[in-house]
Amino acid sequence: MQAVAPEADAGIERWLDGDQPKWDTIDFELPCSRCGYDLRMLTLPRCPECGLQFAWRDIIEARRRRNEFLFEYRWRERPVRSWLLTAFSGLRPWRFWRRVSIHEHVRAGPLLVFLLSAVPAFLVTTHAVAGALWLIFWSASRVPGGPTARFFGGQTLPVFRLLADFAVEMALLSINAGPAYVYVALAAFLILGAATLLLVSLRQTLGRCRVRSAQVLRVAAYAAVPATITCGALLVASIVGVGCLTLYIAPSLGDVVTLGLALTVPVLVLGVYLSVGLRHYLQLPRPWLLGFTASAVAVLFTLTAFMFTTVLLQGGW
Ligand SMILES: [Zn+2]
Repeated sequence: MQAVAPEADAGIERWLDGDQPKWDTIDFELPCSRCGYDLRMLTLPRCPECGLQFAWRDIIEARRRRNEFLFEYRWRERPVRSWLLTAFSGLRPWRFWRRVSIHEHVRAGPLLVFLLSAVPAFLVTTHAVAGALWLIFWSASRVPGGPTARFFGGQTLPVFRLLADFAVEMALLSINAGPAYVYVALAAFLILGAATLLLVSLRQTLGRCRVRSAQVLRVAAYAAVPATITCGALLVASIVGVGCLTLYIAPSLGDVVTLGLALTVPVLVLGVYLSVGLRHYLQLPRPWLLGFTASAVAVLFTLTAFMFTTVLLQGGW
């Protein structure tokens, strides 16, 4: 028996009698899209295992077609274009998940690649946003009569000039930070990996049913890339603004504010993107609790791993 409904040129009517499936003509597997329970010969369009409600027509139709824009289906023909389309559509998650059906055939390989591409996407975004901010503040600082601020030590300095200096430092982070730059990429990788693994390990209990791990991976991958893009942009903008001014006005607060932003922004942004997928795509109960728990645990795990490694390298304990 085939695993997927064939992409035949004939319509799907040969498998349907009105809205009911014609079981004697269906020669492909028909598992529940969410939990994998065999739906064959059921009379009601509701999974007895996980309670997912569906329309037979939607399942059969979605299983035999390829989504028109997702990287998961188009990576062979149009890798760059489909990556960009998927990543930027994902920035509006409510709209994105309306265009993706839970009944589509999930392809784990390309999804894993897409998930991993979130790390370079994060780095590129931070440099691009920092570069753009530098250009804006530098242009503003050229205009005479701009705002000035009285800083620690009684010095009066032009605000836009300070912001421009801070932005250019962030844009050149890869050069200035040297080998420590690898930690930025590693942190993004660990946060995304930990959140995905946590959700996959909880899949037995998610919504009181065993959710297919490929479906959990799909939510994690399509949340990861837009989350890192948003996170990169917000982190740079907030660190440049708040961090820079704090650093000059009260230098002792600078590190605390930067660390606070670096912890809360990823938890909030990744939490929102995961929760919307868990709610609108997997239709699970308590999606916000699950999404924010996964992102908070992942960020705390990464922080602990870094602190532990630092102490160990410095010969503590
Ligand atoms: Zn089910």
